[in-house]
Amino acid sequence: MTTAILGGGLSGLTLARLLHERGDDVIVLEAEDKVGGLCRSVTGNGFTFDTGGSHIIFSRDAEVLSFMRRMIEGNEQRNPRNTKIFYKGAFVKYPFENGLSDLPPEDRFFCINEFVKAQIAFEKGIVPSPANFREWIFGTFGRGIAECYMVPYNEKIWKYPTERMSAHWVEGRIPRPPVEDVLKSAIGIPTEGYTHQAVFSYPLNGGIEALVHAITKPVQNLVRTGFRISSIRRNGSSFTISDGCTSIEAERIISTIPVQHLLPCLDNVPSDVRSACDALVYNSLVSVAFEIEGTVPAISWLYVPDPKLGKTNRISFPSTYSRNAAPRGCSSILAEITHQPGDEVSRMTDEELAGEAAETITRMGLVDRDQIRNSRVMRQPFAYVVYDLAYLDNIKTVKEFCSSRSIPLVGRFAQFEYLNMDGCIRSVLDFVKSYPSTTSPRQHP
Ligand SMILES: Cc1cc2nc3c(=O)[nH]c(=O)nc-3n(C[C@H](O)[C@H](O)[C@H](O)COP(=O)(O)OP(=O)(O)OC[C@H]3O[C@@H](n4cnc5c(N)ncnc54)[C@H](O)[C@@H]3O)c2cc1C
Repeated sequence: MTTAILGGGLSGLTLARLLHERGDDVIVLEAEDKVGGLCRSVTGNGFTFDTGGSHIIFSRDAEVLSFMRRMIEGNEQRNPRNTKIFYKGAFVKYPFENGLSDLPPEDRFFCINEFVKAQIAFEKGIVPSPANFREWIFGTFGRGIAECYMVPYNEKIWKYPTERMSAHWVEGRIPRPPVEDVLKSAIGIPTEGYTHQAVFSYPLNGGIEALVHAITKPVQNLVRTGFRISSIRRNGSSFTISDGCTSIEAERIISTIPVQHLLPCLDNVPSDVRSACDALVYNSLVSVAFEIEGTVPAISWLYVPDPKLGKTNRISFPSTYSRNAAPRGCSSILAEITHQPGDEVSRMTDEELAGEAAETITRMGLVDRDQIRNSRVMRQPFAYVVYDLAYLDNIKTVKEFCSSRSIPLVGRFAQFEYLNMDGCIRSVLDFVKSYPSTTSPRQHP
């Protein structure tokens, strides 16, 4: 019995490995010539960049973190996080609520005063449950932190008004900051937020794709690249999967490809399911990689909430993640610009995008223009799930339909959830546990 795994990103490849290890007969079908999806990297001129934006290895999930670190054992650099927010020309410690002492005094007072007011209201139980993401931000952080950072940054990354976003996904992902930490940070006593990320790992060689390669090693012969699935038909007890030229038969399929790619491959999709899928909101991403002569600030990554600084929302410094990510005497910068499919950014040429990002990094004083040796523009159509207010209803309709067609969904854009690499691997581990096995386990050295 063959199980076809649709998509060869991190989720599909981890699934293939775990199912193969327990003896299942699997095949992975990947549209691109190279596996990895969002976790691909590119190396040239001695520089390595992640093509799907900057990736680091971290997790609160101890089992998943140890799996990822085991995969890159011997090829790992551990780094203390040194992340900042670029605010009014200064570097503010991240998360913002742990960096209030870096703010000008008026802004510091505004943020702390409003935080205390929000905290008192919360303690009194007079804050209604938030109807949207904007209300959640104001209720959790107060008006100061909300207006100085949280709302501008979130609207820049999501390209969506925060009052039209759902708040269901933030609990646990963006923790309510402890009051003492915020007070300490405002008067200059150092505190750390998001401690599960305070030290992170990154492959010494090969960028984040090295993680994917290590996972894929035992199953690399079971992966078929250049196979863009265009139709899936039920054929008695099996499925016929085609890319328009060749067909593959499989008794079971698991999809890790975006639901927006899966549904058009199926026949007789009811119109309400198609409409629900079309209404799901997501962002695309442009990453601009810069090869830099000389040094860059010793920062891991940098958030850029101010729209006046250009379209770039986040800037990372890959040469600080791995000492082998840039040649000796050089360093690197990766600028990220999220955008909506079909918008102004998607119509800009590579040259225009590189110029736009170069303008941002030089205006911010991160490098001089003559330090930029080369640049490269990379585009990802599916980057971030955007949780709009209709999300929960729409995804329920789509998932129920896929389940009725016996197609399990695993992975970031298959489940259509904001899953990081650890979330994808957790989904795979949980899925495999409940998925019936077909044969006996295989051993790998
Ligand atoms: C900017 C950015 C930064 C991130 N940073 C981090 C980070 O620091 N740490 C972290 O843990 N996570 C991070 N993530 C999240 C991480 O990238 C994802 O969780 C993970 O890569 C998702 O893997 P996936 O296999 O589910 O999906 P994908 O990587 O999207 O893989 C899906 C695969 O399906 C293929 N496919 C699509 N359509 C078809 C078709 N018709 N036929 C065949 N194949 C098809 C695609 O080519 C792709 O290879 C980040 C994501 C982004 C966008």
